[in-house]
Amino acid sequence: MARSISSQHTRIGWIGTGVMGRSMCGHLLTAGYSVTLFNRTKSKAADLIERGARWAASPRDVAAASDVVFSIVGFPGDVRQVILDDKDGALAGCKAGSALVDMTTSQPSLAVEIAERAADRGVVSIDAPVSGGDVGARNATLSIMIGGDAGTVASLEPIWKTLGSKWVLQGGPGAGQHTKMVNQTLIATGMIGVCEAILYGYKAGLDLEKVLESVASGAAGSWSLSNYGPRMMANNFDPGFFVEHFLKDMAIALGEARRMRLALPGLALAEQLYQAVAAQGHARNGTHALLLALANMSGIDWRNRNLRPTED
Ligand code: NAP
Repeated sequence: MARSISSQHTRIGWIGTGVMGRSMCGHLLTAGYSVTLFNRTKSKAADLIERGARWAASPRDVAAASDVVFSIVGFPGDVRQVILDDKDGALAGCKAGSALVDMTTSQPSLAVEIAERAADRGVVSIDAPVSGGDVGARNATLSIMIGGDAGTVASLEPIWKTLGSKWVLQGGPGAGQHTKMVNQTLIATGMIGVCEAILYGYKAGLDLEKVLESVASGAAGSWSLSNYGPRMMANNFDPGFFVEHFLKDMAIALGEARRMRLALPGLALAEQLYQAVAAQGHARNGTHALLLALANMSGIDWRNRNLRPTED
C-alpha cells in the first residue's frame, strides 16, 4: 500500500462481527478509525454501529468505502463468499491500491487464490489468522500470524498493534494460515491432556481448584488449562471457541498433512474425539466441551457431579 496507516486518514472496512470480530473491530473504533462494516446478522453489529461504525449493505459496499478491508468470518466457504463472490464480494468493490486482510482461520490454498485474484485487480491480499481466543480478542492481546507482501504488512503495523501483542510475518500468501495450522495442532492434543487431567483429579477426589493452583504454575501449565479449566469447573461450556470451528481447523490441518505425506496420529485422534463432542450435541459449545464427551466415556455426569466423588 502506498500510504501509511493512521486513524486520521485510513478508512477501515470490517466484515464479521462475531465472538472475535466484534471485539477486534471495537478496538479500531476506540483507536479513532472510521469503520464501515457488514455482518450476516445485523443485530450482532448493533453496539459497534451505536459507537459510530457505518453499516454497509454488502461486503462489496464495505470495500467501496474503505482503504483496508478486514474479514473474520466462520468457514472457508464464508471467506469465499464475502471476498470472492462476483456480485457482492469485497474484492469486487476494492479500488486498485487498497488491501484485503482475512483474519479467519481458513485454508492456505484459499489464501493463495485470493492473493492471486486480488493482484489481478491491483489489490494486495494478506492472510492474518489469530490465536488468543475470545479473551485475547477482548484484551487486544492476540498473536497474529501473517502471510503476504512484506511492505503492506509493515505498513499495517498500527493496526496489528491495536489488535494484538504479537505479530509475525511468516512468509508469502498462505504462510499465516499454515502457521495457524501449527497452532491448532499444538492445541488439539493439549486439550485432550487438559480434559483427561481434570477428570483424573475429579475421580481421585481432589479439590480441583487447589489442583489447578498447583499444576497451572508448573511445567504442565498452559493457556488452555488456565483459561478453560475454571470454565469447566463452573459448568460453563459457552464459546469461547466453537467446537464446529475447531473441527474445521483440524480438517484443514489433516488435509494439508495428507498432501505433504505427513502422519499426525495425535491430531487425528483429537479430531475423532471432537467428532464425538459434536455428535453429542456440542458443536456450538466451546472446545472445552471435550470434557463432557470424555466424562461420558467413563460414565461421569459432569454437570451434576458430586464435588467430592469416592473412588470405586
Ligand atoms: P463467530 O462468532 O461465528 O463469528 C463469525 C461472524 O462472521 C458471525 O458474526 C457471522 O455472522 C459472520 N459471518 C459468517 N459467514 C458470513 C457471511 N457469509 N457473510 C457475512 N457474515 C458472515 O466466530 P468467531 O468465534 O468470531 O470466529 C471467527 C473465526 O476466527 C473462525 O474462523 C474461527 O475459527 C477463528 N478463531 C476463533 C477464535 C475464538 O476463540 N473464538 C480464536 C481464534 C480464531 P452471524 O452473526 O450471522 O453468525
